Amino acid sequence: MNISVIGTGYVGLVVGACLAETGNDVICADVDAGKIERLKQNELPIYEPGLEAYVERNQRDGRLSFSTDIAWSIGEADVVFIAVGTPPDEDGSADLRHVLDVADTIGKSLRREVVVVTKSTVPVGTASRVAKAIGTHAKHSFHMVSNPEFLKEGAAVDDFMKPDRVVLGAETDHARSVMAELYAPFVRTGRPIIFMDIASAELTKYAANAMLATRISFMNEIANLCERVGANVDLVRRGIGSDERIGPSFLFPGPGYGGSCFPKDVQALAKTARDCGASLQVLEAVEEVNARQKHRVAEKVVTALGPLGQDARVAVWGLSFKANTDDMRESPALTVIEDLLSAGVRIVAHDPVAMPEARRRLNSRIGFAESSYDALQGSDALVILTDWNEYRHPDFERMRTSLRRPLIIDGRNLYTPDKMKKLGFEYYSIGRAADSALPPQQKPGPPLR
Ligand code: NAD
Repeated sequence: MNISVIGTGYVGLVVGACLAETGNDVICADVDAGKIERLKQNELPIYEPGLEAYVERNQRDGRLSFSTDIAWSIGEADVVFIAVGTPPDEDGSADLRHVLDVADTIGKSLRREVVVVTKSTVPVGTASRVAKAIGTHAKHSFHMVSNPEFLKEGAAVDDFMKPDRVVLGAETDHARSVMAELYAPFVRTGRPIIFMDIASAELTKYAANAMLATRISFMNEIANLCERVGANVDLVRRGIGSDERIGPSFLFPGPGYGGSCFPKDVQALAKTARDCGASLQVLEAVEEVNARQKHRVAEKVVTALGPLGQDARVAVWGLSFKANTDDMRESPALTVIEDLLSAGVRIVAHDPVAMPEARRRLNSRIGFAESSYDALQGSDALVILTDWNEYRHPDFERMRTSLRRPLIIDGRNLYTPDKMKKLGFEYYSIGRAADSALPPQQKPGPPLR
């Protein structure tokens, strides 16, 4: 099939490369000329394991191409995917400007019957708005499909190639049969394609992210309670996660969720509910708990450091919002760093892939270290904010001797408190017994701001 993917970001690039991998002819189009030029040279704008090989192979074999000519990419397509960004508006709702711009271009560029797929995460009713915008200009018939994307950054290629399920909101037989054919190679092992109406498909994406965010905020609150009552959240997590009704995923406490999806999708769903007079009280609390959690790590650092000297310096390991990505959108690290800077602490950070992005965002407000151990030299504490594998089994002796004071605040619970104590560290993590050993006056105080 001839496919046009409009918007070549985290989602569009993965969708385009994976559809080309199964033999389709794909044009990925984007308004960002610099990005398209680099992609033509096989230079990826994002870090995503496995993606580079797909882009290189399919571009070389002529199945994948890149263009800034959006109208041209649509002209010969059987299926057009809209994969542009839907950032949060000031009031929390999804900003559909880019989606509707693309719809306008599609309407003006159609040269044959086409299936138009909204891949971007968009609120209920968006497909109708897109159809209306296309219909204003279109001289050929078109079929709307809502096909929300569930890939995880850091495992995006695998998630797209082997999805748990494919959700397709479609309302014509033509749309259903084209999409079933397109996705057939990805569901050969029996994973379901779930057909539904368009509104349900649009809502499914938000409900999925809202559920996952809810689990995270719930566990963060349980972890905070563990600290107060002297329990260990690792054990509680295992105790509840082995219940088949609950399951083990998304039960890890941490510094709060971030990224380009959970924060904005939770807000947008809550806004949709408010707009139609149905408040989602659980979600309002999920967001509030998450905002609070992002500040807790910095509070722990400041509390553990005690009175700050002139040259207080903290090493940060991990800047991206989770491991295996360079994405720093809404990363908890940004909140922790801002809080520590406003408390007068100097920061030297390390991240295996996100340092270029962090430099772009933070300029020279913090220092960067080439290696994780360099960041520790002369620092009064280490804060761990991303669960990169390379931080899991470090040389503890080297860490202890590099740090000016052997103090670790671990926002990802990478190490065991007992072991760290034996190794000579002052070690604080999230929701585990050792934290409750802090004398009462050292318990985290009120929010920094
Ligand atoms: P992104 O910001 O990485 O990429 C969006 C791309 O769209 C950019 O390259 C931008 O230049 C381009 N663009 C903007 N306006 C355009 C226009 N008018 N014409 C052509 N290109 C245009 O965003 P993303 O992370 O890929 O997310 C895209 C959508 O997918 C969002 O709705 C997001 O919520 C959703 N989504 C994202 C993820 C994820 O993990 N990132 C997962 C599932 C769903």
